[in-house]
Amino acid sequence: MKAQRDNLFADRAVIHVKAGDGGDGAVSFRREKYIPKGGPDGGDGGHGGSVVFYADHNTQTLMDFRGQHHWKAGRGHPGLGKNMTGESSPDLVIPVPPGTLVFNENTGELMADLREGERRVIAKGGRGGFGNTHYKGSLNQAPRQSTPGEPGEEFLLRLELKLIADVGLVGKPNAGKSTLLAALTQARPKIAAYPFTTLTPQLGIAEIDMQRRIVIADIPGLIEGAAQGAGLGHDFLRHIERTRVIVHLLDAMPEDGSTPQANYEAIRKELFDYSPVLAEKDEIIVLNKLDLLPTEKEREAAVKDLRRAMRLGRRDILLGASGASRLNLRELLETVWGVLHPKEG
Ligand code: GDP
Ligand code: MG
Repeated sequence: MKAQRDNLFADRAVIHVKAGDGGDGAVSFRREKYIPKGGPDGGDGGHGGSVVFYADHNTQTLMDFRGQHHWKAGRGHPGLGKNMTGESSPDLVIPVPPGTLVFNENTGELMADLREGERRVIAKGGRGGFGNTHYKGSLNQAPRQSTPGEPGEEFLLRLELKLIADVGLVGKPNAGKSTLLAALTQARPKIAAYPFTTLTPQLGIAEIDMQRRIVIADIPGLIEGAAQGAGLGHDFLRHIERTRVIVHLLDAMPEDGSTPQANYEAIRKELFDYSPVLAEKDEIIVLNKLDLLPTEKEREAAVKDLRRAMRLGRRDILLGASGASRLNLRELLETVWGVLHPKEG
């Protein structure tokens, strides 16, 4: 079960990191033309590169870790004669999303909780070893001693992303959540014309433009699953409760003959029952499947009528849209962005 869940979410990854070993110190003696028995001149080894995590706001998921399990920083070069220190390797800097928790997979220890802009050495590169120059003393003019480079640290890590989604999609089965998520994001959720298709919530990232991305989770799996006694548990809830905005999808013409406002009330009740934390979030209501109404006039009237039927106030947001026909999606994303980032307008 766990493995399956991990595949569905881009919020967990297990990787192996290895910092570079230090280079060995050198054993060397000066051999110059007119110095028959020169002193030691073996240089120190270079330092191995460390593995450093950087919490980069341009990174939103752990998806990139799916394709690459091993991350290795370069090793330090060995010391050389003429007291030349071996070259050190640069650190391997790996961007991770802010909010990434880094666990030692073997011990379970929490190694880092990375906040935006933070840099942390996760696996320390090995120090270079001493060359024989270091061992020269009054009693030992020709030391043959040197030390090997230290090994770089290595760990099996489990990465977990705390912040999974900015937006949670809720609505009745068949309201069109999966279709909308697919239309808005790169996610490819399963879509079927029967209820309870979304037993496992899906996640996707909508890109308004390069600078503005919104992570959207299809939550209803949780509610639909819970209604069937197949809830997804606290592990998932923990992630989803960090959602900042709820987009509540309503089917404009429900096939079961129910009304959008009745369906709205039903889902609100489920939300309150299942998670009062979620129910408290800002909400954007979307009257979906408006492509079923042929003219713009009818669509506008439908939105207006629903506003009235639901007794929405001036500050309540209700938009008409269609995931299937990509109607009003741009406006929807801009509206969501505006609620997520009120100061930026
Ligand atoms: P979910 O259960 O909320 O995830 O709903 P789905 O996305 O699986 O859609 C349920 C059904 O409604 C499917 O048959 C979809 O093809 C259909 N559907 C979804 N979005 C739209 C839409 O915008 N317009 C129309 N006409 N049908 C839609
Ligand atoms: Mg669905």
